[in-house]
Parts: sequence; C-alpha cells; structure tokens
Amino acid sequence: MGTKAREIVGVDVDELIKRLNSALADEWLAVYQYWVGSKIIAGPMADAVEAELVEHAEEEKEHADMLADRIVKLGGTPLIDPKMWFEETKCGYELPDNEYVKVLLEQNIDGERCAIEVYKDLLGFIQGKDPVTYHIIREILEDELDHEDELQNLLENYQSLFK
Ligand code: FE
Ligand code: FE
Repeated sequence: MGTKAREIVGVDVDELIKRLNSALADEWLAVYQYWVGSKIIAGPMADAVEAELVEHAEEEKEHADMLADRIVKLGGTPLIDPKMWFEETKCGYELPDNEYVKVLLEQNIDGERCAIEVYKDLLGFIQGKDPVTYHIIREILEDELDHEDELQNLLENYQSLFK
C-alpha cells in the first residue's frame, strides 16, 4: 500500500473502507440474484430477459472487482467471508422464489434503485475529498442507472404484450 493513497483522502479512511465493503456485499448479492434468476426464469420474453440478467450479473461482478481493488489500495481488506455479506449489505437480497419473468424484473429493478441511492450517497460523502474513489463510484453509478433503464424497458415491453 502506498502511504499517499490514504494520506490524500480527506475523509475518515476507515469509514470509507466500511462503506466500500458494504457496497461490495451488495454487489456480490446482486451477482447471485441475477445469476440464479437467469437460470430459473420462466414466462413470456424469458429468453430476452435471461440474456439481460446474465449480462447484469457479469457487470455486478466487475463492480465487485473495482470496489475490492480500491479497498486494498486504501489499506483495507475486502470482506473475506460470504456470511458477512448479509451483515454489511444495505440493499439486501430479494429471494427469487417466484421464477415468473415479471416478478424477477420487479425485484431486480428494486435492487438497482437501492444501488443507485447507495452510490449517490457515497459520492456525496467523498465529493471533493477523494477524486480517485469518486471516479470509480461514478462509473459504477452510471452502470446502475443503465441497469435500471434496461430492466424498466423490458418490463414495459412485457406489459405491452397484454394491451
Ligand atoms: Fe453493481
Ligand atoms: Fe446493477
């Protein structure tokens, strides 16, 4: 770890690491929620939605990579035990116990909206204080906004089948 990496951060670095680890927990839970959803999905447009869920799972995994790399650079340790995901998560895990396409879409839209709030808050916390983390989180936030948009478009297409 470079000494300057922590020194140039103008907020409590341990608090920042804690928040990044909470987001890391959210991302891993999102990876699994999307991934398992893509396996069980059923109903109209299941193929199109499955493809989107697979893509999102991969992108959430990339977010987890970005967060973990930043935590390490700041001298922290990414959560090492999956059990901690449930202790640290803000957005939680919506159990996909109904495989119907509409239900999965709605659950995942909820998850994206939560993620958007988490990253917006985090940007507020570090704005002007940590340009490096800010850049990373802004990039993730842009992806989450795209995710919400893509899922909402699919849900609208689904709803238009019944008009
Ligand atoms: Fe994400
Ligand atoms: Fe997302």
